[in-house]
Amino acid sequence: MFFHPAYLIVIPGILLMFWAQNRVKGTYRRYAQVRSKLGMTGAQTARAILQKMNITGVKVEPVAGELTDHYDPRAKAVRLSQGIYDSDSLAAAAIAAHECGHVLQDYRGYAFMNFRAALAPAANIGSQIGPMLVIAGVFLAATGLSTIGIILFAAVIAFHLITLPVEFDASRRALKLINQLGILQGEENEGAKAVLQAAAWTYVATAFYAVLQLIYFFLLSRNR
Ligand SMILES: [Zn+2]
Repeated sequence: MFFHPAYLIVIPGILLMFWAQNRVKGTYRRYAQVRSKLGMTGAQTARAILQKMNITGVKVEPVAGELTDHYDPRAKAVRLSQGIYDSDSLAAAAIAAHECGHVLQDYRGYAFMNFRAALAPAANIGSQIGPMLVIAGVFLAATGLSTIGIILFAAVIAFHLITLPVEFDASRRALKLINQLGILQGEENEGAKAVLQAAAWTYVATAFYAVLQLIYFFLLSRNR
């Protein structure tokens, strides 16, 4: 196993990710137990929002797992996890509405979403090959090789940073919609907000960790 003291720099990132993961799970479990007054399930919430926005042709379907909810722009499908799809909790309304926020971004041509999708392949390659090139460059004393690795890994950072406005915007749209449509009322909106804010922190933590990794790779490559 390869270890260098500069690796210590990524520890705050790991801690923040751990904290955010715990927080999102805790907040989710708490508000998954609070049923909304109106009693609409996640699936009903998603369908009501899509209908209200005059969006036809987007399916709302269940998907296995916990917190696996997502919108698939290619399949035009909002996929809601079992705990969300059939649940009439505040968490279910919040998460279902958030995924519909991504549908709206897709249908209204939200620039950051397209940019993020365009960056995805480069980020994928960068996350796999970037670190290997940096470490190979260090062992071979080839600074150029390490620099290429760092540039490739920079695509990963760009991807995670561009994810932030995409996710914040989807949540902002979600909270507005569930309030406007009366799916949640009064204080219930605060519960939905807490769930979506906790989820937002996981994206912040991931981006922060990626930035620290880049700094680590840079320090490693400059080490001789
Ligand atoms: Zn999202």
